[in-house]
Amino acid sequence: MEVGVLAVQGDFAEHIATLKGLGVEAREVKLPQHLDSVEGLIIPGGESTTLSRLMTLYDLREPVRSMAAKGMALWGTCAGMIMLAMEITEEDPVPLGLMDIGVHRNAYGRQVDSFEQDLSVPCFGSEPFHGVFIRAPMVNRLGEGVEVLASLPDGEPVAVQQDNLMATSFHPELTNDPRFHRHFLDLVPVVAN
Ligand code: GLN
Repeated sequence: MEVGVLAVQGDFAEHIATLKGLGVEAREVKLPQHLDSVEGLIIPGGESTTLSRLMTLYDLREPVRSMAAKGMALWGTCAGMIMLAMEITEEDPVPLGLMDIGVHRNAYGRQVDSFEQDLSVPCFGSEPFHGVFIRAPMVNRLGEGVEVLASLPDGEPVAVQQDNLMATSFHPELTNDPRFHRHFLDLVPVVAN
């Protein structure tokens, strides 16, 4: 199995290290041809307007959109969640419009309002997951087919999944807990030989 990590900006190196720790072949995706052999793709945290501009500049938008529409597993963390959304409250960036959620950027406040929170993730069992939130986006609309994997104590959804698409408003790649990465690998389609 080969999994790509969008590597134009943001904390792609941490995702690659976690994937390698799980024994997965992980490759940096900077250009459309790097998508050729990947069966899953992670869009990392970073700065979503920059990510969006670089995706347009390197012609990555359409191939990522069409591969995800055909079933490629796709996971966005933080800025990556913003990119996956159907719509966002701000004008910039233009998201990929893949997952049926609406997102509000920086809704938890500025850099100083970044926080950490233990999250209950029922599909992982009783052990909480330590969520690191850095200028995180907030999900302000959930489409019908979107499943909530984890919420904050006040009920705000922070990890969501729609079929082959997953989005987290926090950064599992910044902790040593690979459970979200494993969950994502389970979404990678099994190709019949
Ligand atoms: N606030 C950033 C944005 O709007 C996302 C921050 C992050 O990825 N940690 O793009």
